[in-house]
Amino acid sequence: MNCDKAQELFSDFHEGALTEGLRLNINRHFENCASCAQDFLSFQQAYQSCSTLSAVAVPDDLGETIARRLDMVDFERKRASARPGRWLRTAAAAAVVAAVLAVAVMYKPDSYRGTGANIIPPIAQSATELTIEKVNGTVWIRFVAGEKTRVDVLEGGTVESLLPPNDAKPIRVDTIAAGSHYNVPVTVDGPIPQPLWLKVSGMKETVGIFFPQPAVLTSRTFTGDVPQTLQAIANGYGVVVEARLIGPGKPTSQSLVGAEVLEAARAAMENTSYKSISLTNGVLHVR
Ligand SMILES: [Zn+2]
Repeated sequence: MNCDKAQELFSDFHEGALTEGLRLNINRHFENCASCAQDFLSFQQAYQSCSTLSAVAVPDDLGETIARRLDMVDFERKRASARPGRWLRTAAAAAVVAAVLAVAVMYKPDSYRGTGANIIPPIAQSATELTIEKVNGTVWIRFVAGEKTRVDVLEGGTVESLLPPNDAKPIRVDTIAAGSHYNVPVTVDGPIPQPLWLKVSGMKETVGIFFPQPAVLTSRTFTGDVPQTLQAIANGYGVVVEARLIGPGKPTSQSLVGAEVLEAARAAMENTSYKSISLTNGVLHVR
């Protein structure tokens, strides 16, 4: 991977939207290219500063404005004849930042469609009130950091003696300044999306997010620990499951009964410490 290609992928990398191969490639590039690694840090900081912005009404011609501004950035960059592809290093740096801010507002425009400012669900008030919500098909991780908070996001893994599993893959680490809003859309694509695990500093539980896996044939009767059972519920009922988990628990025999997800989940969690189960907008919350 060369520098231009790496920088093209910054945004997708930051969002955790890259394939595993690309993710490995870009990580390898950062190991060998201090300059891109530094640029990526700058990119993340600019991006992070966007997440503290509140929602605004998006003008109809915003897309066009961004396109024009990006053209201008390209033009300025060529004219400055700086080394091409170097992020934040040309005379156009300020314009790039402005474009990134605008793009952040545009991100997932479906989430903002409609009238009035109350389309965005309310954001929780402290780090421990982290929420996982689904807005028009996109899952969002959000909270307001009461104090400086670190969030580690990991993916998948099979060794469930601990949570997150020992072999889960780290996909991003964010540090959120006190008072900042953390508001991250999670992209889960493909027929077998893996669970995500969130370790939040100051929070003793691990947050597990389980997505329906359309390509996995799930039996209603099986033996599984808590994460396996929650994954089976996500698969069997087509819901996103968000759980605050202390550990994986012991495997028990399960039989998911009934057409209704709440009833099935409550029955499945009966012999565990997770008694608070609610369903909001396609997300099953387990506490
Ligand atoms: Zn590079």
